[in-house]
Amino acid sequence: MMSGDFSRITARIAEKFKRRFYGRTFNCPVCHFELAVVDAGSNRLLVCPVCGVVIDIEEVYGHAVPVVLEVELYRPQPKMRIHPLATHVPIGLYPFAVLGAVLLAAGSLARPFFPAIEPLLDSAPVVADATLVLLVLSVGLSVLTFASGLWDWNRRYRRRSYRQIRLKIAFSVLFLALGGVAIALHASGAAFSAGTGLIDLGSTMSVTLAVLELALLAAGMVVIATLGHVGGTLVYGK
Ligand SMILES: [Zn+2]
Repeated sequence: MMSGDFSRITARIAEKFKRRFYGRTFNCPVCHFELAVVDAGSNRLLVCPVCGVVIDIEEVYGHAVPVVLEVELYRPQPKMRIHPLATHVPIGLYPFAVLGAVLLAAGSLARPFFPAIEPLLDSAPVVADATLVLLVLSVGLSVLTFASGLWDWNRRYRRRSYRQIRLKIAFSVLFLALGGVAIALHASGAAFSAGTGLIDLGSTMSVTLAVLELALLAAGMVVIATLGHVGGTLVYGK
């Protein structure tokens, strides 16, 4: 149930990015996948990435009317869809890295008010290390996910221009950048102290950097959820 709520929220966020990014859209007459008019190019032809029909876009009184011409028969079909499988590794690990940082922040803030949690905070350095390992794994392995996605685009979609894929490439670069800075911050020990694993509330620098790290992690969460959502539409259609 919670994952259902989560996917509904991410779908709504992704929808916002899509509107800006895709411009005018229409639905594939065969599979109803949402396609961007700009991807048709100057010959007004577009191959649906989901069902493979070749669509001619007629402009009728300012409306984009799709007409199905034929079906692309010789479509490279990889035996193993490595990219959709590979995405699950970073998407599966990243939220736990975010959870680790959130727990550390919550512990740091609660410490002055609840002395009883002090024994729990002994494990904060372990949580801080685990958070770093999870971050490095999820962001590091997302490089492979990104590479396999480019490979799919190259072979299966023949490097054709699709707004969906452009959005995914842009967001993948963004995720790597956000993740890279978050890893550097976390590893530096300047946000979450290298010794205690907690935020040093007495230091403005430590507090500021911890807030920055949490903001980067949260932004990464939105970016990775959008990537998953748009990727899902390319696999399962609408
Ligand atoms: Zn289609």
